[in-house]
Amino acid sequence: MAQPRVLVIGGGLAGLSATMRLAELGVQVDLVSLVPVKRSHSVCAQGGINSVNSLTRQQGDNEWKHFDDTVYGGDFLQHQPPVKEMADWGPRIVDLMDRLGVPFNRTPEGFRDQRRFGGTLFKRTAFAGATTGQQLLYSLDEQVRRWEVEGKVKKWEFWDFLEPVLDDAGRCRGAICQDLVTMQFRAFPADAVIIATGGCGLLFGRSTMSMVCNGSAVSRAYRAGAWYGNGEFIQVHPTAIPGADKLRLMSESARGEGGRVWVPKTPHDPRDPRDIPESERSYFLEERYPKYGNLVPRDIATREIFDICTNEGLSVEKDRLCVYLDLTHVPRETLDRKLGGILEIYEKFQGVDPRVVPMKIFPAVHYSMGGLWVDYEKSSTGGLVEGSPRNQQTNIPGLYAIGECDYQYHGANRLGANSLLSCIFSGLFCAPGVIASCDSGGKKAAEESSRLFDSGLRREEERHRALLGRTAGDENPYDLHQQLGNLMTRVATVVRRNEQLAAAYAEVCSLEERWRRCAVSDSGNWTNQNVVFTKSLGDMFPLAKLVLKGALQRDECRGAHYKPDFAMPGIHATEPAEKRREAEAWCDRFEANTRRWLKSTVATCGPGGEPEISYQDVDTSLTPPRPRLYGLVGGEEIEEVWKNRKHAASAGVDAHRGPAAFAGATG
Ligand SMILES: Cc1cc2nc3c(=O)[nH]c(=O)nc-3n(C[C@H](O)[C@H](O)[C@H](O)COP(=O)(O)OP(=O)(O)OC[C@H]3O[C@@H](n4cnc5c(N)ncnc54)[C@H](O)[C@@H]3O)c2cc1C
Repeated sequence: MAQPRVLVIGGGLAGLSATMRLAELGVQVDLVSLVPVKRSHSVCAQGGINSVNSLTRQQGDNEWKHFDDTVYGGDFLQHQPPVKEMADWGPRIVDLMDRLGVPFNRTPEGFRDQRRFGGTLFKRTAFAGATTGQQLLYSLDEQVRRWEVEGKVKKWEFWDFLEPVLDDAGRCRGAICQDLVTMQFRAFPADAVIIATGGCGLLFGRSTMSMVCNGSAVSRAYRAGAWYGNGEFIQVHPTAIPGADKLRLMSESARGEGGRVWVPKTPHDPRDPRDIPESERSYFLEERYPKYGNLVPRDIATREIFDICTNEGLSVEKDRLCVYLDLTHVPRETLDRKLGGILEIYEKFQGVDPRVVPMKIFPAVHYSMGGLWVDYEKSSTGGLVEGSPRNQQTNIPGLYAIGECDYQYHGANRLGANSLLSCIFSGLFCAPGVIASCDSGGKKAAEESSRLFDSGLRREEERHRALLGRTAGDENPYDLHQQLGNLMTRVATVVRRNEQLAAAYAEVCSLEERWRRCAVSDSGNWTNQNVVFTKSLGDMFPLAKLVLKGALQRDECRGAHYKPDFAMPGIHATEPAEKRREAEAWCDRFEANTRRWLKSTVATCGPGGEPEISYQDVDTSLTPPRPRLYGLVGGEEIEEVWKNRKHAASAGVDAHRGPAAFAGATG
């Protein structure tokens, strides 16, 4: 058989690692990217990449604990076999990146240094200062350039993916893309297509993500029939630097290196923070979660910061919500060596040196746990079958998704430093399976499909011409985008309420309608950014709708999805027997909620573009769901009741059916 040809859309960490691996395996790759691959959003990643290593093992860490922290952090919403496989691969991936030349920070003895990140008690995060994403991306870019020179890879930078091309049997046979300089269209026949196009932060207007993270490619695949999983799960990072133009991340690594979050006990205390004595400060994360302290998972830290500012009225400033993130107690030399990159960002945009004065931060939209639905094949040992064509394949045969744009690894809440791992892992791991799928596809069929490509090209050219011709509309795309972003940020971030979500859905439909009347101010056919933006704005509405509808229908709180109307009750009693009764009731409700809502949300694009939502069971075969308390002060009684129930259940199962049935019985 002739060597297969694979089209990779996206040159961030996921796309580059897939490209490198495919080329190594002898496959010809076309790599398409909106921006030069070295400018992909992955370059912004700061804090690090998670994996167990020999140092963390000495502290009692292992791959199982990494897996367990990840599913506990994700509120058990992710299928467990892919997460287990990813955690098992972690050490190999970081070793590989080390060998490829990533300048990871070292201890004085020469070992890779590790820092702690959120949602774990172990120092499991390898890092290259606070520019880890850039170092990883550049190393993979070098490898891909090597294959380019060998003639195995052809890069198409400044190209926009417009639609996958499907044959009559529904198999993906390639794609139609557009050159963003000449504005010419081109068909890319391929034996398989991998989408690696990152997140969709631009739906929310301002976020910590790059301005190219518009979700357009994913939306186009979704409209062509690909399913979208867990769309309502959007991560709001607890610590970002508010800005009028955009929100800039202050990485979790700042807390990993000892940063402490606090507010003055006096609302809007006007004193210089350095003059406020310890006794007049509230280190509220440390007080409420002494076990994890400032490194509780992001969903929890975000809600606590939001709560202290909005419900308790303790925002540092009166007219702007923010809390202090304090690094001033950490030696300057340590800060420069380990966090230089991010501290410079703060200094540059705020004009204040965070080594000397506590930073002012507030949560911001950061990451999308949801994404294109992808399949996997489970192995007999609980992980994945390597080389299976099902791994990372969407519901469209021959169309794959990897990296931030798939929904597979992070459930309802992603742990910090797990994304870089999932991107590189899914890229490397999927390659043999993609090739296997090419074997069962048909080069011949692809060649015979020129009819399909011709009609795809005609369709896209027609769409483009129609947009260029819209010079007389009465709507401004940039204005509409701002309205969409403000709306999504207001109703679909930290706190969600059904009436607001329903109203927002109607409003998005109306914005979409108005988009059809957008005027395009630039009608030229050379590097026309205006028309490209307007097109991508049109693609944001279907995604916004599936986020809102998924959130509206999910009447519970799970990870980043929080509806106060469906929140679990607290334990209020002080009298021991009553306290126990409340804890029992809490656990009953937790179990009922798990039965009802521990399901992946799957959105399909219905006729007329409206999302149709269904639910799929989650594979929790490796560890059963448990209450997610992170040592919350006041949660001890619940922990106790839960432990007793599990003991009783396992004793019962042991007596009647044997231990192997335990996971299934409770999962
Ligand atoms: C500020 C910041 C810091 C972060 N720090 C960390 C960290 O320390 N650790 C961690 O684990 N995670 C971190 N994350 C998350 C992590 O950076 C991302 O999830 C990850 O880099 C995404 O990689 P990716 O390869 O999936 O996509 P990206 O790197 O976003 O790449 C997407 C690619 O797709 C291309 N593309 C997009 N649309 C199209 C289209 N229509 N046509 C053609 N090409 C297209 C783009 O050009 C680009 O090449 C951070 C995120 C942010 C915002």
